[in-house]
Amino acid sequence: MLIDGQFVTGEGESEQVLNPATGELIVTVPEASHEQVNRAVQGAQRAFEHWSDSTPQERSRLLLKLADAIEQRAEQFARLESLNTGKPYVRALEDEIPAVADCFRYFAGAARNLHGPLAGEYLAGHTSMIRRDPIGVIGSIAPWNYPLMMAAWKTAPALAAGNTVVIKPSEQTPLTTLLLARVAAEIFPPGVFNVVCGRGASVGQPLVEHPLVRMVSLTGDVATGRKILQAATGTLKRTHLELGGKAPVIVFDDADIDAVVEGIRTFGYYNAGQDCTAACRLYAGAKVYDRLVADLSAAVKTLKMGTQDEDGVELGPVISERQRERVASFVERAQMVGHMEITTGGKVGQVGSGGGFFYEPTVIAGARQDDEIVRREVFGPVVSVTRFSDPDDAITWANDSDYGLASSVWTQDIGRAMKVARKLQYGCTWINTHFMLVNEMPHGGLKSSGYGKDMSMYALEDYTVPRHVMVKL
Ligand code: NAD
Repeated sequence: MLIDGQFVTGEGESEQVLNPATGELIVTVPEASHEQVNRAVQGAQRAFEHWSDSTPQERSRLLLKLADAIEQRAEQFARLESLNTGKPYVRALEDEIPAVADCFRYFAGAARNLHGPLAGEYLAGHTSMIRRDPIGVIGSIAPWNYPLMMAAWKTAPALAAGNTVVIKPSEQTPLTTLLLARVAAEIFPPGVFNVVCGRGASVGQPLVEHPLVRMVSLTGDVATGRKILQAATGTLKRTHLELGGKAPVIVFDDADIDAVVEGIRTFGYYNAGQDCTAACRLYAGAKVYDRLVADLSAAVKTLKMGTQDEDGVELGPVISERQRERVASFVERAQMVGHMEITTGGKVGQVGSGGGFFYEPTVIAGARQDDEIVRREVFGPVVSVTRFSDPDDAITWANDSDYGLASSVWTQDIGRAMKVARKLQYGCTWINTHFMLVNEMPHGGLKSSGYGKDMSMYALEDYTVPRHVMVKL
């Protein structure tokens, strides 16, 4: 781990880190003790004194260096990420590492471009001005689905704004964050960037409760978000919560069905569906429903499942045996209901030695609004399709969810698309696509999907606090 500029071994229990494609042990990683968490936070607090005094230009320069260093080691990062998560190596290399480097570059530029209201005499004889200052030590807690990218989303805006960071990767996927620590230690002053490893209860919780941590940012489950909110009440911390999702996809009768099929084949199953924006909850107009179910099922059947380096592999395993059992149990319960049909998949996947945590890409047709498969986040390669006749029902059903992260609308009528986009209670609505993210635009949810934005200027605002300074003339 990286604590206050020193590389140290965890003094707590050891956690097994597995290769999800084979089930084999990669390495054991000892977790941080409470004392080590405390040291990381104390070091970050000391570093904050200097780092928060640095100019945006200085911070920008170091963030750009970090982006370059990540690109120089792109293959090493991608190799480690795909080993630890099971995802196809090519996807990690071509999709994720460039996005990670770009995230640091974006915030390197953004740090120098904060804007605000004008200074002026809003009270006669007094000049008021606005400052935007960093908050202090940020405790960041990341999930296992995109370990390095989530580390970038959380640390880049925090560091750009002049905060210092203690990040805890998921206990299942610490490897690329540890490599990022190696790279960052050569660039940032000691204590600015710290990494502690371990589980939520034993390491995450003390980090959240630490009185010197001024803000906690989490990407994770809704239940974890609740726990963090409760733990943060003791010290009234700021919180930034990116939680789950259950993205509705509304397909109108006039949509280009070939494009929908191609889109859902990709965006419903990317990262084995372990994505909070996954296109997993389809509502299809009555006229296109049958064709969509048939074509989508046929297309999904052709997804190539395999281990990280297999030629042409599109779909890796899910992260763990536990996650696979969870996914399988959702599908089994859906099957038992009676009115739903598994049109493809619905079984454990057989790949190689058989030790990996594969699950076949699955389409469930005939789902209804009240069904569990429509309401709960599966976080696996499973897509449900529900028929609608009245377009108003589709909008009502799409919004009838505890979640509010991402959504999409498919139609050739741009006026209709815009009207529906306005009605959808989601942090993002895509039109005739799904899943596309750019560092300039915000990502974050409504309702139980949490609050606070990753990426974009809005994230930089979240990691700073506006302050008023008034001078009596
Ligand atoms: P998780 O909530 O189980 O774990 C996330 C992190 O929280 C891990 O590092 C874990 O160790 C830590 N944690 C758990 N309990 C804690 C506690 N009491 N105190 C402090 N830390 C604690 O989530 P996961 O299973 O790793 O990831 C999957 C979830 O993340 C899904 O629900 C998914 O939708 C969500 N997610 C959301 C977004 C988004 O941007 N909204 C992005 C990716 C994933």
